[in-house]
Amino acid sequence: MIAEKFNYEAPTTIKEAIQLLHEHGDEAKILAGGHSLIPMMKLRFAAPTCLIDINNIEGLSYVKEEDGFLKIGALTRESDLEHSDLVRDKYHIFGDATKLIADPQVRNFGTIGGNLAHGDAANDHPAVMIALGAEVEIENVEGSRSVSIDEFFYGFYMTAVQHGEILTEIKIPAPAGRFGSAYHKAERKVGDYATAGVAVAIELDADGTCTKAGIGLTNVNPLPMRAERSEAALVGTKLSEEDIANAALYASEDCSPSDDLRGDEDYKRHLVKVITKRMIHRALGRIK
Ligand SMILES: Cc1cc2nc3c(=O)[nH]c(=O)nc-3n(C[C@H](O)[C@H](O)[C@H](O)COP(=O)(O)OP(=O)(O)OC[C@H]3O[C@@H](n4cnc5c(N)ncnc54)[C@H](O)[C@@H]3O)c2cc1C
Repeated sequence: MIAEKFNYEAPTTIKEAIQLLHEHGDEAKILAGGHSLIPMMKLRFAAPTCLIDINNIEGLSYVKEEDGFLKIGALTRESDLEHSDLVRDKYHIFGDATKLIADPQVRNFGTIGGNLAHGDAANDHPAVMIALGAEVEIENVEGSRSVSIDEFFYGFYMTAVQHGEILTEIKIPAPAGRFGSAYHKAERKVGDYATAGVAVAIELDADGTCTKAGIGLTNVNPLPMRAERSEAALVGTKLSEEDIANAALYASEDCSPSDDLRGDEDYKRHLVKVITKRMIHRALGRIK
């Protein structure tokens, strides 16, 4: 199908983009990579009256360490993250996730900001950011505010980004201890959305005791989900096989997958248990 008629604006500053959002009213939308929005417009699930293309705004695409954070600009493409040396050496979880997102064409356009702002529990970055304890920077006419990833997703395709606002940056606190992370999703075929996905980030002290655990789940809950009971089962332990098995079991019990074309509820819970266990081991292997 062909999308409904819309206006198009291409601002060159964040301020101008925010102003245009206000001028064009509630039905205007930001256009980033367009790889979620344009398909929805073509299917007529979305019919924005104006697209405000932020691709000409300079300074929104970067991956850097600064002030105790890994900072990712909202317009950073999946492929930029995939090929970043910094990410490759230290944040293995992004290497795992980006390679599993769609195909190279989508990754060359799709942005990290768009992946989060779309608010889809089937997207992969929400779980990754939950595991890493990210904060999301949002700008509006009054300035900017920082929202914890735990308060970012609050409904079906609904996020903390309100009308008149732009997601500008994702900030991930630099790990304090020995750190390992991993992500995997089961998919029906290469490039598909997750049947079930699990993101894990672990920190250990010098003794090998787990000081911090982050576990995020993809597409097995109405909203991207933090597996809190699983995290609590790991922190303070030496991560024995029993501790890891308990964490995996809790994740599978606490999520709420629905039956659909990708599988039934029991199958998805089983996948969550198996993948959680494997990702904890993979993250640990990366620390050692
Ligand atoms: C064939 C195909 C397969 C895919 N497979 C996967 C997959 O396996 N895993 C996965 O995670 N994703 C997948 N995607 C989605 C892809 O990663 C999208 O690119 C991504 O979800 C959205 O990013 P975008 O930059 O394209 O955003 P857009 O499509 O431009 O925007 C998406 C939404 O976010 C809003 N938005 C975007 N940027 C901002 C911003 N900075 N501030 C405020 N609002 C903003 C837009 O207004 C829109 O509502 C797939 C897409 C396709 C076409």
